[in-house]
Amino acid sequence: MNRDSYPHYQRDCGWTHPRNLQRTRPSLEDDDDCDAIIIGGGYTGIGIAAQLQMLRPNDDIRILEAETIGSGSPGRNSGFLLEHAFGATSPGMASELYQHYRRTHQTLLQNGLGDKKAQPARIFKGAATERGLKALRTLEQFLNASQQPFAPLSADAMTELTGSRYYKAGIELPGNSLLNPFDLITNLARNLPASVTLYEQSPAIRLFREQGMWRAQTPRGTLRAPKVFLANNAFASALGYGNAYSVKIFTYAGITPQLSGAIFSRYSQHGQWGLLPAHRLGSTLRSTDDNRILIRGLYGYESEGNDSVKDMLATSLFSRFPELQAYGLEDWWGGTTSLTANGAPLWGELKDGLYVSIGCNGVGIIKGTLLGQQLANYACGEPHIDVARLMDKPGWMPPEPFRRLGFQAVSAYERRMAGAER
Ligand SMILES: Cc1cc2nc3c(=O)[nH]c(=O)nc-3n(C[C@H](O)[C@H](O)[C@H](O)COP(=O)(O)OP(=O)(O)OC[C@H]3O[C@@H](n4cnc5c(N)ncnc54)[C@H](O)[C@@H]3O)c2cc1C
Repeated sequence: MNRDSYPHYQRDCGWTHPRNLQRTRPSLEDDDDCDAIIIGGGYTGIGIAAQLQMLRPNDDIRILEAETIGSGSPGRNSGFLLEHAFGATSPGMASELYQHYRRTHQTLLQNGLGDKKAQPARIFKGAATERGLKALRTLEQFLNASQQPFAPLSADAMTELTGSRYYKAGIELPGNSLLNPFDLITNLARNLPASVTLYEQSPAIRLFREQGMWRAQTPRGTLRAPKVFLANNAFASALGYGNAYSVKIFTYAGITPQLSGAIFSRYSQHGQWGLLPAHRLGSTLRSTDDNRILIRGLYGYESEGNDSVKDMLATSLFSRFPELQAYGLEDWWGGTTSLTANGAPLWGELKDGLYVSIGCNGVGIIKGTLLGQQLANYACGEPHIDVARLMDKPGWMPPEPFRRLGFQAVSAYERRMAGAER
């Protein structure tokens, strides 16, 4: 069995609270035929399924998910729903993409909130270094040119919002949201149309074509269909596709215990907030609606890091909030994402009837959903966005060992450049 073809995390995720994790769906236990197989029940896979079902309501659509919904990669992120388009081939394309992201954001809020209401949150980029300040100025120019809304924040305003004196300035990004990703992905899965079958604990371990049909094999069954969609992100290459364009990256999050109202109010005078680093290898921070502070940072190439990750996350958190040392990190975990050389997704039809959308490069909640929906349009011959024009095509990556060496050299350099943004 190809155990590399799906995730095996060492640690449960702090959002999940394992006691909340309920497996409600069956595994694939036999051989069957259907109209479309989707491999991966994350944001991309669910985006594909919902759109396919709308376009082809009578089709038999099946999703194979390796894990229990909520415990895997889509439930492990920091929960920023970012409608701002930072990566695009030009400011004009970013402006167009921003409109697509805004609409997708609304769809996600409609389907992903369950019985909760969206919590208002203030989201901003923060700079802690001179280099970070320079990056913010460049970003301001880009946001201006692409007509995306923003507002500058002074150092004092950053302290007011976060309770930390660490930052020299920021840029507020209105319109975005903060959610709990476990809630989001479980609600999205629950709200799938009844005609879409979602199998949990059913990893595809082999994908092959036979007599004009695609076959996706799991440990206990096989699905056969004329169309297959690869939405398994960092694990697509383990099934034999996309290896020349993407690598599997681990990144990590740590979370404090619940803080008392009196303590937490020091960090949330103006309600919930989320802070994105000025440098891409910097630390992301946010408050949560259950009075905790989360930090996300660090990158690992292809394999999951050990306990030293927790110490590094804690050091970054305490440099911003020294008083939190008294509480420590209650939990920490890793999650995978797929990274491409230039940040452009691998998207489209790779072979006859084999469609792929992977490589959201760390901001895949809205982007993955949009690319999934558009891939379904494309596969059904419906109008769709021109992904390469808006986001470019992914750059080729050299084979191992050059790829690993290249990644290590670039990330060591970038970490040095990130300095106190880490
Ligand atoms: C710590 C962390 C913080 C992050 N923070 C943010 C954030 O705040 N905002 C944001 O937008 N993005 C964030 N990201 C990135 C974001 O999580 C991803 O970009 C997003 O989840 C991509 O969605 P996806 O559906 O394409 O892929 P994934 O979420 O990776 O989903 C792929 C699914 O495929 C399944 N799978 C894998 N292999 C197989 C197989 N062989 N068979 C069947 N199923 C398989 C996996 O179990 C998974 O459910 C973060 C990532 C991490 C790790």
